[in-house]
Amino acid sequence: MTHAIAESHHHGKIDIPALIKAQDHFFATGVTRSPQYRRNMLIKLSEVIRNHEQEIVAALYSDFKKPEFETATSELSVVYFDLKVAIKNVKKWSRKRRVMTPLFSQPGRSFILPEPKGRALIIAPWNYPFQLVMGPLVSAIAAGCCVVAKPSEFAPATGAIIEKILSAVFPRDYVAVVHGGVPETTALMTHEWGHVFFTGSTVVGKIIMGAAAKTLSPVTLELGGKNPAIIDDSASVFDTAQRLVWGKFFNGSQTCIAPDYLLVPEAMKAELVPAIKQAITESYGHDPEQSSDFARMISDRHFDRLVKMLEGANVLAGGKHNKSTRYLAPTVVDGIGLDHPLMQEEIFGPILPILTYKTLDEALAIVNNRAKPLALYVFSRDKSVTQRIINSVQFGGGCVNTTLMHFINHNLPFGGIGGSGVGSSHGKFGFDAFTHFKSVVVSPSWADMLLKYPPYGATGAIMRQLTRLMMRLPG
Ligand code: NAD
Repeated sequence: MTHAIAESHHHGKIDIPALIKAQDHFFATGVTRSPQYRRNMLIKLSEVIRNHEQEIVAALYSDFKKPEFETATSELSVVYFDLKVAIKNVKKWSRKRRVMTPLFSQPGRSFILPEPKGRALIIAPWNYPFQLVMGPLVSAIAAGCCVVAKPSEFAPATGAIIEKILSAVFPRDYVAVVHGGVPETTALMTHEWGHVFFTGSTVVGKIIMGAAAKTLSPVTLELGGKNPAIIDDSASVFDTAQRLVWGKFFNGSQTCIAPDYLLVPEAMKAELVPAIKQAITESYGHDPEQSSDFARMISDRHFDRLVKMLEGANVLAGGKHNKSTRYLAPTVVDGIGLDHPLMQEEIFGPILPILTYKTLDEALAIVNNRAKPLALYVFSRDKSVTQRIINSVQFGGGCVNTTLMHFINHNLPFGGIGGSGVGSSHGKFGFDAFTHFKSVVVSPSWADMLLKYPPYGATGAIMRQLTRLMMRLPG
């Protein structure tokens, strides 16, 4: 085994078939079936992460100048919390559960056995490059899977520290990191997986699902989209501005659930825009380029795409950019139509378009005429308006009078709908993604329902009568 893995590193190229064979062999030994074993591995993982905190902060800073506070909260705390919830519950989640057995299966017992799906593949994006490998990994380990993790090639420093941590905790035939981009991911996807957990763009999500279809590998797809924030005229202007600015510009606006665009009542715009400008200044100072609290764009390609998107928009705040450092100021724009590029694709950067509406129907139509969003935010003090918005749009998840916070509640499933994703994660929902629920009925050998065997004779009529009685159907 060790020999196969050593060979797989030859010339820096990973021999994927050898790695897969080694992981299948490890899985077949059955060690990961023990919830106690999984729990111990999770405890070990949390200890090793703790010992590398400073390196993790430095890696994220090197990849896109992510501020220490934002790494401490959105990368480290989130993962520690994932670990805490999994360590506490792994035994309970893995327990065999007895369920009712219907009359026709009597005498008998029925139970559900949560079992690991097997070898899992985790493919991560660059925007929360640590957390979006580690979060799903915690769920996969809790579920008893072996894992191949493929971090994003656009966050290489984070990819390196992830490998350092994982190789200190797990042997490679249990958890392995494969670095690379399109060719490596494409090669990995030609194999059958117990589960594929992909986080990334909707375009690539379709490619992954298409490849998974060829091997019938089940998928979770955590994708992107355009997240609206609908503001109602009953909302508090100051609080709305502050909470929106925080959620939009956190992580340099490279957040899948960041508010993408605002829908504001026409009459409220004159009051809200200065409040947003003020909130930006209070958060990042008069020159956000000097602020240590504002991250940079991840790549030149991403930077160029965003700057180009500003063409034809009326800049109300920000707009300043610096290609050599990939800095784009927190920017607010208006004067764009629904056909402008800013309203055609996920922005995924620090540009906040403000659109106005006259009636709530009009605002809802703008949202409902496009793909189902991953997140939706409502700012209102009117309960009936809030209810109406929540009930009339299909979206993954969201918040009322705040932003981003639904992500960190592990009692809530996190995921999209339609174009924004398939399946969900976090807490028990993440465990379930990597788990097969095996159903078993046990019949005693000493007794049986003899009526079910042919020749049926008159039992057909008796069965129909019995079914009617059981279903309480008339006569
Ligand atoms: P991406 O889709 O470009 O890349 C994601 C992963 O897929 C990377 O590991 C990459 O190497 C791989 N990949 C890229 N192209 C591929 C191809 N043609 N074939 C096979 N694999 C390929 O996404 P990104 O730019 O890294 O991340 C940003 C996107 O991720 C945004 O759309 C954002 O909304 C989304 N996102 C979603 C969530 C969520 O939880 N729903 C979280 C974070 C980011």
